[in-house]
Amino acid sequence: MNIHQFDLDFYVPNVIAAYIIETADGPVLIETGPDTVYKNLEKSIHDAGFSIDDIKHVFVTHIHLDHSGAAWHFAERGATIYVHPRGAKHLVDPSKLVASAERIYGDKMQELWGTINPVPEDRIRSTEDGQRLSIGDVGIRVLDSPGHASHHNVYIIEGIAFTGDAAGIRIAGGPVLPPTPPPDINIEQWQATLRKIRDVKPDILYPTHFGRSVDVLPHLDELESRLLEWSNWIGEQLQKGKSDEEITKEYEVISKDLLSRHNIVDDFLKAYEFADPFWMNVMGLVRYWRKYKLGE
Ligand SMILES: [Zn+2]
Repeated sequence: MNIHQFDLDFYVPNVIAAYIIETADGPVLIETGPDTVYKNLEKSIHDAGFSIDDIKHVFVTHIHLDHSGAAWHFAERGATIYVHPRGAKHLVDPSKLVASAERIYGDKMQELWGTINPVPEDRIRSTEDGQRLSIGDVGIRVLDSPGHASHHNVYIIEGIAFTGDAAGIRIAGGPVLPPTPPPDINIEQWQATLRKIRDVKPDILYPTHFGRSVDVLPHLDELESRLLEWSNWIGEQLQKGKSDEEITKEYEVISKDLLSRHNIVDDFLKAYEFADPFWMNVMGLVRYWRKYKLGE
């Protein structure tokens, strides 16, 4: 199976990937990145020897804008967008998605994500957990995979897992970090998702941030232990009565310290920060604790 990995060059390299799988029914695109780097995606697709109109099937792991913000470009040209059933309605009417993103990104919305146009309903195909789709000669299995987002799919293609954000973020062989933005973070569901991915025994993971990772089990184990460690740390800080601002400051120090222990060079540190902003992780974990654990 031929897989092309593209770097969408979101501010710096190694932040957002998109993938193409070659099939007998043309190239299948996995993830579109945001509208702001659509030109880069277009160029990568051309450089790989395809045209945009060749792409009839686009699979998005979830509807966060760094993963599917440019899906509407492909829908406009007739492609089918495959998405988790809970995400489908937000592609058709992105107003809630945009409002939710505005609460996180404020006046940076346009600069980060660009234009967010609706996807016509007849261009969307909602998936089901466990579903097996055939595109040409290639079989794609859908795994419902909540935890990072309630509307998250992992796609398994011939023993390879395209994990979106469900297998965390790992840049240039650095540490595996859990991206925990609001509003859906659910640690227990995420752990169940990791068990599900382990059960499939994939040979390779392709997280969207960023790229191929072959030591599958250590990768998933590292993610799970860090997810628990950081979530529990946030819970402790909240129980000590610390403010969100104090927690964010300390969390940033802890995360940067972890990255510096791994000798992450400046360029990759930036990539980690763009893929997984520290303050955003705190927002998501604080929300999880207040909603599920502290009964607030
Ligand atoms: Zn992401």
